Amino acid sequence: MIAALPIVLLTLAALASETILAQIPPPPADLERRVADLFRRAADIPAGSAAAVTLSKEFTEAGAAYLARGDPGRATELLERAYGLDVENGLALAELTLADVRLENFDAAAFYLRLAEQQSARSPPEIYRVLGEVYDSLHRLEDAALAWEQYQRLGGDDPQILQQLARVRREQSVAAGQNSLSGEEFSFYWDPSIPEATVTRVAQRLSADYVEQAEFFGTRLPASQVVVLYAGRAYFSLVSAPDWVSGVFDGKIRVSVDPDGGLTGDLAAVLSHELAHAFVRYASADLAPGWLHEGLAQWWEGKRITRSEIHDIFKKRSPRTLAEMEGNLARRGDRAAARANYAEALAVIEYLMERHGAGSVACVVRDLGTGRGLAEALRLETGLTPEELFRRWKEWARLTRAADRTAANP
Ligand SMILES: [Zn+2]
Repeated sequence: MIAALPIVLLTLAALASETILAQIPPPPADLERRVADLFRRAADIPAGSAAAVTLSKEFTEAGAAYLARGDPGRATELLERAYGLDVENGLALAELTLADVRLENFDAAAFYLRLAEQQSARSPPEIYRVLGEVYDSLHRLEDAALAWEQYQRLGGDDPQILQQLARVRREQSVAAGQNSLSGEEFSFYWDPSIPEATVTRVAQRLSADYVEQAEFFGTRLPASQVVVLYAGRAYFSLVSAPDWVSGVFDGKIRVSVDPDGGLTGDLAAVLSHELAHAFVRYASADLAPGWLHEGLAQWWEGKRITRSEIHDIFKKRSPRTLAEMEGNLARRGDRAAARANYAEALAVIEYLMERHGAGSVACVVRDLGTGRGLAEALRLETGLTPEELFRRWKEWARLTRAADRTAANP
């Protein structure tokens, strides 16, 4: 029975706009050199001159590059310089807004947003692309849609942005009339038919989870996590989620709630599961493979698997290697395969926790966030290659001997 089995829709383009790196890999040397050169040239250029306007554009590009790399602090520094050189540089203002949203400097973000909006008419479509990202990350759906529509009207054709626009439009159609409540750790949006008492219990549950998971992953989330509670499945149908999915994490935690059901055990499990995805993504700088995501998310929802369950699942199919489990774990349209993949992901996490300790699993996630590859992170924390981990896990689960027996008696 996997009716409440949630998946992470890692492929959603929405992720790109909301990715914040936990620890930032060092920037490429050419970008650093370019920036050093910009500062040298800026030293003796009067603000407002034609040369300053050109230089301001170059600072904006460099700032945007740092922002895209997940370094909003450095981005802010460069974008403020861009703004100083040309106070009418709307794109610099929009990127500054986005950088401040990522840094949670919401007062500064509001200040620059107002200026960016004033400059938007004389700016190229790019400013609307960035403003759309700002609004979307604040869950201001209507503003995000308007900004991206304007981007498209002015000739913007980045397919990723057009996809995001389509997603926001779909989201708007089911979000009309939602209530909202913003807090430090979570910002809740919920359909009005969900009783406030249920929302309160959801909030309590998530806050308790937050404390535990923040301790495990060794980090808090960088901004108030958006949680959207839908009465029923309308949103999930719109994004074509399989019918056994009742929670999704795509930067926002989205959960389908039975308005009359209160906080059931299933709902609590889905909440913990999706919150774990938020932590894994942030702590790993969005570089965790699918099996690590889903294994940890299930572990945090409290699911455990016995060896006899493992044997049942892999009686007729062989487990996939870690590399084979990359990509789409959920296997749309193939429930048995999805079930096997999820079970294997959980079992591998249980093996790691048992043999190497919970700390080592958390460290693998954090190592990914520092720019180490999976093989390096595993070697560092467990001394194993991905292939060795897979082989030892099979031995631990006693799947190897079963396979040998089959081979000996075909
Ligand atoms: Zn999941």
